[in-house]
Amino acid sequence: MLPKGANLQKIRDGKRTYAITPHLPGGFIKPEMMEKYAQVARKYGGILKLTSAQRIMITGLKAEDIENIWQDLDMQAALGYANCVRSVKICPGVTFCKRGKQDSVKLGLELDRRYIKKEMPSRMKMGVSGCANSCSEAIIKDIGVIGSDVGWTVYVGGSAGSHRKLSGRIVPGCRNPIGNERVWIVE
Ligand code: SF4
Repeated sequence: MLPKGANLQKIRDGKRTYAITPHLPGGFIKPEMMEKYAQVARKYGGILKLTSAQRIMITGLKAEDIENIWQDLDMQAALGYANCVRSVKICPGVTFCKRGKQDSVKLGLELDRRYIKKEMPSRMKMGVSGCANSCSEAIIKDIGVIGSDVGWTVYVGGSAGSHRKLSGRIVPGCRNPIGNERVWIVE
């Protein structure tokens, strides 16, 4: 059986190794936490791997160590269900980047707080970028938010991988003639 909070990484010569990935909102990490990662990886013979979702995975682990590793780390696992909001990728925005137009860190952390691991009909990824350079790859996320001089633009339907696709911008359409509420369309 799969150890709780771990993914099977490899089966070599009949031996299985596992990885764990703690939740790390926006990829921001304090030095003390970074030291804890290193201590845990060293203690259990693991390797640290930076992931595309701005997390630090510890891989090369044994099944029997997984429970103790989570206790040592005292962190939550990044992933909940297969079909859920799996990541909110955040660029440095106005907080750290000279090109930033909007506060992607603040918005991204709030989206992470509200939606990460929330169950969805399928896997979902979000991205928040502080300007059109889209360094968090917001333009290829299921939901992407990109900052400009005047505010935020929301994009939907992007994807990377084997069915790659740029997302479409959500813009206001005509008013619904019956209900009179605003209708939004994807360009
Ligand atoms: S998207 Fe813009 S604000 Fe964000 S890191 Fe890239 S250049 Fe900076």
